[in-house]
Amino acid sequence: MKTVVALGGEGIGVEVVEATCELLTAAGLPLKILTPPHGEAAQRTHGSPMPEETRRLCRQADGVLFGAAGGPASVAVITWLRWESDAYANVRPIKYYPGARSPLERPQGIDFVVLRENMEGLYPAREGRLDELARGMPELRDRIGRRVADHGEGAFAVKVVTRRGAERIARFACALARRRKARGHPGKVTCVTKSNILSASDGLFQQVAEAVVREHPDLAWEHYYVDDAARRLLRFPQAMDVVLCMNLYGDILSDLAAEAAGGLGLAPSGCYGDGWAYFESVHGSAPDIAGQGIANPTATILSAVMMLEHMGLAGEAERLERAVARVYREGRFLTPDQGGRASTREFCSAVLGALG
Ligand code: NAD
Repeated sequence: MKTVVALGGEGIGVEVVEATCELLTAAGLPLKILTPPHGEAAQRTHGSPMPEETRRLCRQADGVLFGAAGGPASVAVITWLRWESDAYANVRPIKYYPGARSPLERPQGIDFVVLRENMEGLYPAREGRLDELARGMPELRDRIGRRVADHGEGAFAVKVVTRRGAERIARFACALARRRKARGHPGKVTCVTKSNILSASDGLFQQVAEAVVREHPDLAWEHYYVDDAARRLLRFPQAMDVVLCMNLYGDILSDLAAEAAGGLGLAPSGCYGDGWAYFESVHGSAPDIAGQGIANPTATILSAVMMLEHMGLAGEAERLERAVARVYREGRFLTPDQGGRASTREFCSAVLGALG
């Protein structure tokens, strides 16, 4: 028996996590699922959106499944799960399941991973007023020689890249590419930066990542600027394997890539640190459809698949993923984002039926 902590968060996050947990339980998986207080409700009852008891349960659990953040209380939950827990590697698989609604003419065979550096770059936000920056760094100039004080009133954001941060995510990328290569993928790391413009920050990331990948003669290395990478993800998605991205680029490109493979409703993720991991869909709280019972739970079910793998239940994970794939192939119980009429729960019942 493994213990899982399930935290819905906000909006459709609550709906898809509840439905996924019901599915996992009905499927007879050896899981004890705990749903401790968090978010707005915990703010009211415990005076904190992430009470100490909930943190303790998460730390002790074999798996943690999160729904989605929206407002400040659920953002506080993700802040703890991700940033305060140093979950630096965000693995976002992009895989086409035949029957999913891709806008591409030939989505067959799309199967890669966007690996997003999760702790640095422009996140978590470090912002301020330009006059504060001008006082602190009066001689800071842009590439055309203007000082900060020359701009007048405005705001700034600081992008941070460290050698350690770039190195550990590059090592994670290599380990992931090797595991995928063992399963028949090409064994390639595609690094994405904007080092032609941001030569110090993005340049450091690229340079460190390349040095790490070059230590692995069994892996191929390539690098694209983020604008070119966006185009390539649409035009040549089948050529991708592990796409190593700086934080913001990974956030944006993974939504784009998810859409190419069928939609945000299908995009799962896992956030890994050293001795810590939690799992969540790529999508947010979707206020436009929240409360209607029509959110696509696939992203959360596939996040649970990643969680099961992480917990050492690889056979169960594979069975669940195969059942999801079958529901898409058969196409009878798809949610509205996929052109179907099924509710969140009807989709989950179909997956349960397909588990066989
Ligand atoms: P979103 O991901 O919530 O929704 C974008 C669009 O995709 C919406 O039209 C939505 O209806 C649709 N969509 C998303 N998931 C779906 C699903 N499972 N099934 C069917 N349709 C789905 O992004 P947004 O609208 O830009 O942001 C809403 C809130 O979510 C914001 O507060 C944002 O900050 C937050 N957010 C949180 C996370 C996270 O928790 N990791 C990620 C992205 C956005």
